[in-house]
Amino acid sequence: MILLSFLMGLSYRAPPYQELINSVPQIGRPSELTLEYDVIIVGAGPSGAAAARGLINGGLKVLVIEKKKLPRYKICSGIIFKKSQEITKKYFGQIPHSAYAAPNFLKGVRFWDNNEYFTDWPFSKDGNGAPNIWRSEYDYWLIKNSGAEVLDCWNVTGFTDSNHHVSLECYHTNRNEKKEIKCKYLISAEGSQSLIRSRLDPPFEKSLKWFIAYQNYYEGYSDIDPYFYHGFLNSQYGDVYAWFSMKDGLQVFGTAVKMGNKLSFCLDHYTKMLENKFGLRLTKLIRKTACLGNDMCTTDRFYLGKGNVFLVGEAAGFLNAFGEGISCALSTGLSAAEAICKSVSSGGDSLALYTELTKQERKQVTISWKLGAKIAGRNLMPV
Ligand SMILES: Cc1cc2nc3c(=O)[nH]c(=O)nc-3n(C[C@H](O)[C@H](O)[C@H](O)COP(=O)(O)OP(=O)(O)OC[C@H]3O[C@@H](n4cnc5c(N)ncnc54)[C@H](O)[C@@H]3O)c2cc1C
Repeated sequence: MILLSFLMGLSYRAPPYQELINSVPQIGRPSELTLEYDVIIVGAGPSGAAAARGLINGGLKVLVIEKKKLPRYKICSGIIFKKSQEITKKYFGQIPHSAYAAPNFLKGVRFWDNNEYFTDWPFSKDGNGAPNIWRSEYDYWLIKNSGAEVLDCWNVTGFTDSNHHVSLECYHTNRNEKKEIKCKYLISAEGSQSLIRSRLDPPFEKSLKWFIAYQNYYEGYSDIDPYFYHGFLNSQYGDVYAWFSMKDGLQVFGTAVKMGNKLSFCLDHYTKMLENKFGLRLTKLIRKTACLGNDMCTTDRFYLGKGNVFLVGEAAGFLNAFGEGISCALSTGLSAAEAICKSVSSGGDSLALYTELTKQERKQVTISWKLGAKIAGRNLMPV
């Protein structure tokens, strides 16, 4: 954790978002908030935003609680795949120009094998490619357009679930202030490290295996094709795989390894290869960052919830091969919302309905990792 805190603390050159800040009246005004909600969502990522949008469409009173100051940085390559594009457009509209990084669209993924030969996998049939976005901007735009009340800088630290309501405990991240908020349903959209999941089922949490994903942002140059997202499958560069892409002129690259001490070895090896083969020259470090992920997605251990508490997105284990997770975050957020709305209006077991609604998504995640292993010629999650 010391390593993580160190990595996260370094400065980051954020893209301009003054325009967005100026148009956010509903975020962070705790004094005006009511203390009773139909649903509280913990986490303002894509799964939280989609759940909020769906619940608001269903006429429910919704609060989103986010521990970071919005717009928040999120480690990501920021590629919006076809399914994510479709859900985004249908429920939120066109992605604003301010969320795009240059090059605005990437043609596809270029996978490099052990011998450093490549195969291209286009992102779209029409050749348009996929949006290359900054997550800080995209996620912020989603949550603002969800229609829910949003409280940032509040960390959820505990909850109790009686049959009638859930009571949530949260702390302000900068002030010495505590809140207890009640709701009928609680949704954890907390990402891979979910406090709510760990409280619901400690033995399950203990059984999880973790990997660390690390990413650098540097000023500099290279002669790698900037219109592709590059994946390096040689396991010397990472247990999962190593990646490279360009964002607003920054050289963005990283790798993912089993939790332990192999990270710097793989990263050094990978960086040297980029220098030798692609003329990578790094002039100024802008940010280095890391996060943890777990093996729920590759072991079919999706955790959808308990009682009145639901889990969506990565908190529930939804992450596709090669780390694509926005599409299943959006779709499971919407499914949880649909299940809750139906249960509120016509009765029935909302968790059973959510389980049914996510059947296809769970199957797709499992298949994606099998396909990924075929492409890589090895297990992509050897944790
Ligand atoms: C290196 C990397 C590259 C990736 N690239 C891509 C890509 O190009 N395309 C793609 O589709 N996917 C990509 N992904 C995956 C994608 O980022 C995730 O799957 C997606 O963000 C999951 O969304 P989520 O809403 O479930 O969680 P998150 O986006 O992680 O959001 C969770 C939110 O909850 C907040 N939170 C957590 N705990 C609490 C708490 N207790 N109280 C209050 N708030 C809390 C967090 O601060 C965070 O804002 C990538 C992942 C990594 C690691």
